[in-house]
Amino acid sequence: MKQELIAVTGAGGFIGGALIAEFRRQGCTRIRAIDIKPPDEWYLRFDDVENLSLDLNLKENCDRAAAGAGQIYNLAANMGGMGFIESNKALCMLSVLINTHMLQAAKQQGVRRFFYASSACVYNGDKQRDPNNPGLKEEDAYPALAEDGYGWEKLFSERMCRHFTEDYGMYTRVARFHNVYGPNGTWDGGREKAPAAVCRKVIEAKLGGKHEISIWGTGNQTRSFMYIDDCTKGVQLIMDSDILEPINLGSSEMVTINQLVDIVEDIAGIQLKRTYDLGAPKGVAGRNSDNTLIKKYLNWEPGLPLRTGMERTYAWIYDQYVAREKGLAAAGVH
Ligand code: NAD
Repeated sequence: MKQELIAVTGAGGFIGGALIAEFRRQGCTRIRAIDIKPPDEWYLRFDDVENLSLDLNLKENCDRAAAGAGQIYNLAANMGGMGFIESNKALCMLSVLINTHMLQAAKQQGVRRFFYASSACVYNGDKQRDPNNPGLKEEDAYPALAEDGYGWEKLFSERMCRHFTEDYGMYTRVARFHNVYGPNGTWDGGREKAPAAVCRKVIEAKLGGKHEISIWGTGNQTRSFMYIDDCTKGVQLIMDSDILEPINLGSSEMVTINQLVDIVEDIAGIQLKRTYDLGAPKGVAGRNSDNTLIKKYLNWEPGLPLRTGMERTYAWIYDQYVAREKGLAAAGVH
């Protein structure tokens, strides 16, 4: 297995980079990393990996990415946090090209196993109106009322995996990630998600001396956040499992955004005056991961406490922030 060629798409992004780091750590020697961004813009880049800069919207590039691979982890997507997906619905939906062409290429190249990264954004919006969300069960994706744009595309691509399995016998596995956070991810520029955005804002306030923070929405909306190491572990467990249906991969430690800010303030040793931007994109009122199914199948669930993961994330973003202020590029090459 360790000799088999593993292809990871979206490798220049947050989760793809972390997954490759984990495969290398486990002794995998044949890894192909693919991203549309040039390698010098990847969060993590490894010189002993085959690094390809390809636009996977194009079928011929997907053929190149899949050629000779035994396993594909398809993580490439044009995405970001709520600020990005609410105002870029067409771009999010165009990721259907990546997912269609990667599946076709994997089938044609006889790839042994295919993993697809879906999202909690597939869940029915009506089941996320209450901040006291008891946890979304896998069946709550239907009847379908997914997050407009991004969520519908994920739901469609999930189903395409299902039908490639049913009709062509392809081995596909699908996980619905719930908010993933950690070092080596987007923390600025408009695509960042809440944990990174809150860290950056707190750092800005601390170093800039203006002790204020603007929070999107009322701050009472709830979410759960999964640390990146739990995500990469879960991806591998799900890929190796006999779980045929899309399954939640997320933490069940639900917090309000205000509680997330409390945690980061505590880590930073500062208290900020909060203002609430009620017009900003804020997503659903309440979202949590019901982990009944993953515990049943894998006897495991993502478990790193939010506080621990946020300490590591804060420290990494702090270093990036300070390096940027000094005009230094943050290092990601290994
Ligand atoms: P990311 O944005 O950091 O990484 C995605 C990568 O895909 C980027 O580096 C981007 O350049 C690349 N990409 C985009 N279009 C491409 C194209 N046409 N060809 C090749 N590469 C292309 O995102 P991430 O957080 O690492 O997410 C990875 C996957 O997990 C995505 O499919 C995302 O939808 C899914 N997901 C992530 C989260 C999360 O909280 N991070 C939650 C749910 C689902």
